[in-house]
Amino acid sequence: MNMSDSNDSCINSPNIKTYSITDDYIVLWKEKLGTGITGPVRPCIKKDTRERFALKCLMDGPKAHTEVTLHRLCNDHPNIVRVLDVYANDVIFPGDPHPKARLLMVMEFMEGGELFDRISKESGFTEKKAAKYLRYIAEAVNQCHRLNVAHRDLKPENLLLKDNSENAEIKLTDFGFAKVDDGNLQTPHFTPYYVAPQVLEAQKYKSRQRRGVIQTSRPYTYDKSCDMWSVGVILYIMLCGYPPFYSETPSRNITSEMKRKILSGKYEFPEEDWKVISDAAKDVVRRLLHVDPSCRMNIHELMSHPWMTEAPDTVLQSPAVISDKEGLEDIKLAHAEKLTQMRLPDKTLELKSISESQSAIIRKRKLKQNSYEENDTETKVKIKENDIRLKPLRDIIAYCVLPPKDEKESMLISLILNAVNSSWCHNKLLAILRQFQWDGEKFQTKVEKMKLAHQLSELVKSVTEVTQDDQNS
Ligand code: ADP
Repeated sequence: MNMSDSNDSCINSPNIKTYSITDDYIVLWKEKLGTGITGPVRPCIKKDTRERFALKCLMDGPKAHTEVTLHRLCNDHPNIVRVLDVYANDVIFPGDPHPKARLLMVMEFMEGGELFDRISKESGFTEKKAAKYLRYIAEAVNQCHRLNVAHRDLKPENLLLKDNSENAEIKLTDFGFAKVDDGNLQTPHFTPYYVAPQVLEAQKYKSRQRRGVIQTSRPYTYDKSCDMWSVGVILYIMLCGYPPFYSETPSRNITSEMKRKILSGKYEFPEEDWKVISDAAKDVVRRLLHVDPSCRMNIHELMSHPWMTEAPDTVLQSPAVISDKEGLEDIKLAHAEKLTQMRLPDKTLELKSISESQSAIIRKRKLKQNSYEENDTETKVKIKENDIRLKPLRDIIAYCVLPPKDEKESMLISLILNAVNSSWCHNKLLAILRQFQWDGEKFQTKVEKMKLAHQLSELVKSVTEVTQDDQNS
């Protein structure tokens, strides 16, 4: 192992140690806890406390820094796997001709393994237990969404259990495809089985554009609602043991038949397996797997659905179905293959934000959403109002976390002035800005953007928490 020289400085993202990880940890390089698309995750032991942790090694680059930054942004929550330390070291692995720059993420050790492995071993797995697991997952998604982060790779392999005890909590990991959801429309990324229809639409559109069928860019939505779709698929599998869009023809790839089903939102509750499952559980699935993202349940609606706390004790058959290792491995392999194929960024595709859209369909959806809001309860309206009012703050957070390539101080200043002038949380915002030497027009010293993002995230969190408390009371 060849490590770079010791010093305490940070590169790119804050709090990245550049001295050797081996000063602080014993890494068990030959063991692995699991393998993902970036390679094995290995155990490591902290030298001073002898505590066990998990180590993920990423090739150093902008993508890895984004993963580290967004994971750390969402870190401070019991249902998100905690990142303890990050090191930038030159590491040589077997087969490498020379050492390569890598980011080494030390995370809390999730001894209980992956969610579906656990479910496959459960005896007497009930709807009630599925609801409990879903609550943990929803808490994790809520933490990401309230910080305006879309995870975009919610799947069972990224849901890990803290330990092997009966009451072990589930935590979400792998922010490798997470993105600050700034309200714009994004390049499609997906994993089969958990892919939302609008992502497939975007992919279809992309391919037609490449073939010259479409000349100009048209908007496609891709945002937090995709995470809700994935939650729906995970719930469906927890309840019956197989995915809703399973192809009739066994294949390692997403088939055209499966694509057709996803696009049309067609899935069934086969009577034989679903007759024992409660109507309330089916209602949650239906609302999450709604083909139209504007009608899909958001995270607050999911968390306040009665099934989440009142699910019955009905015993489910899913553990037996999931324990068919071959079937489960096939689904996992299909994910891995498709992840590699589909995650190639499309630089040529220019997408517009929904608010700029001239598309009649999107306009219609917006109108529908507006009228839905009018009819909604007072609290839900309040949450939506908050979302709109908090947008200027979220714009600043998004800018600080992922500044654009052509970054200019004036861009940040104009976002700040916009937020200050919107007079929402005016005083609290100004109090934070003053800590960064804001004089009302500019910063007197160089602003530490990640610190500013964290403080603003806390402010956003406090406002959303108050509104959710209203809803719960
Ligand atoms: P990738 O981004 O390369 O897909 P992941 O972060 O998803 O990697 O991790 C791959 C696998 O490693 C997980 O599915 C899990 O089995 C295991 N793993 C990841 N993080 C931990 C952890 N903190 N503790 C224990 N095992 C882990």
